[in-house]
Amino acid sequence: MKPSMQTEKYDLAIIGAGPAGMMAALRAAECGARVVLLEKKHMPGIKLLMTGKERCNITNSETDVRKFAAHYGKNGKFLLNALYHFGVTETLDFFHRNDLKTKVERGGRIFPESDMAKDVHGLFLRLIKKNKITLLTSCNIKKISLKHNTIEKIILDHMEMKAGNYLIATGGRSYPQTGSTGEGYKWAGQMGHTIVKPEPALTPVLVKETWVNELEGLSLKNVLISVYQNNKKQGERFGEALFTGFGMSGPVILDMSKSIGKLLAVGPVDLFIDFKPALDFDMLDKRILRDLEGHKNKSMRNILPELLPQKLIPVILKLTGIGPEKKGHSITKEERKKLRVLLKQFPLTIKSLLGFDKAIITTGGVNLKEIDPKTMRSRIINNLYFAGEVLDLDGPTGGYNLQVCWSTGYLAGESAAEK
Ligand SMILES: Cc1cc2nc3c(=O)[nH]c(=O)nc-3n(C[C@H](O)[C@H](O)[C@H](O)COP(=O)(O)OP(=O)(O)OC[C@H]3O[C@@H](n4cnc5c(N)ncnc54)[C@H](O)[C@@H]3O)c2cc1C
Repeated sequence: MKPSMQTEKYDLAIIGAGPAGMMAALRAAECGARVVLLEKKHMPGIKLLMTGKERCNITNSETDVRKFAAHYGKNGKFLLNALYHFGVTETLDFFHRNDLKTKVERGGRIFPESDMAKDVHGLFLRLIKKNKITLLTSCNIKKISLKHNTIEKIILDHMEMKAGNYLIATGGRSYPQTGSTGEGYKWAGQMGHTIVKPEPALTPVLVKETWVNELEGLSLKNVLISVYQNNKKQGERFGEALFTGFGMSGPVILDMSKSIGKLLAVGPVDLFIDFKPALDFDMLDKRILRDLEGHKNKSMRNILPELLPQKLIPVILKLTGIGPEKKGHSITKEERKKLRVLLKQFPLTIKSLLGFDKAIITTGGVNLKEIDPKTMRSRIINNLYFAGEVLDLDGPTGGYNLQVCWSTGYLAGESAAEK
């Protein structure tokens, strides 16, 4: 006879131990629920460790709830309840209360004072233990079993898990090596939810110009990047960007990637970088002239560092056709013009956006119309809740995506803890 499977019972079973699942688990445990957290990777929060270039941009200092919600576009309205209940102020209180000091940087980005995502991660691991949450890692969920619009149990490899309530916090599909491979969408779909097609978002771009690989790693501050289609400007953004081996990334590019994707669907797209947005063409010309006259006998290779990052100089010189050893006094008016144009309108042709492998976030997910925004409970399955990126919610860079996890996780955990 087949041995009967061991069955464990909890008040709440949470699938996915990312930021949303962990926050939900903590809040539910705090409210008195017996919680089990099921994670398929060998440890929780692998993506959290990578956030903000391993510095973790926890949230954003924008404390006006309506303004905060507006960053998510039309779906932001859904978040209002969660943000009023556990918004930026409450999130910061939570971290500070748990001995994580924070600091605010450019654009209101909030980071741990230590600059280490692993401190945020460590805080959650500590609290999971302290709150006696059962954490099961490397677990393989084979099936979620339903009976009359209610989840009856979860079937794992060697056991079954029964709970009063269930919460799916499996994230999206971006950076799948971190565990986010989209099973949450599949289960939600099987249980009757509609899924808004998941697409990569906040993605770097690939460009056609092969010489960008010479610029790999060059990070740009205070640049203005414009997007053009059919010689018409379609948008622009000021801030930070980064050259990669294949194209560009960094906040300005990531935040424009959604609109670039839409434009690419209908035709070619060009980018123009203005390295000197504070100067108009005339001012820049005067500045170049001053540099050339001040260093008449120096080579261009040695004059340009006054104006440009070192790494950019060989590329700019190549594109203008000015020899690196050419002296300041022998630069022609025409060459000066070429230089000026390149510094103000450095052109790149977009080949494509990168896919889920390099996308910071997934846009699309469980349809928000089918979830109660006051509790995060499914309107279709009686004892099911959702939190985090699995929902059809995505924001720009700047801490907005983790705030979705803290706010929806907290609210879902609290609601799902009710027996
Ligand atoms: C490189 C990078 C940098 C980022 N930086 C920032 C930043 O600085 N600030 C910011 O706001 N946002 C940032 N983001 C976005 C942010 O990381 C996500 O929005 C956030 O991690 C989503 O959290 P989540 O808990 O919803 O899902 P995830 O973090 O994806 O976690 C989901 C968890 O569920 C588990 N899981 C999935 N399927 C199953 C299954 N079948 N069974 C059991 N477990 C499962 C996964 O293994 C994973 O542990 C960054 C993203 C990336 C990729």
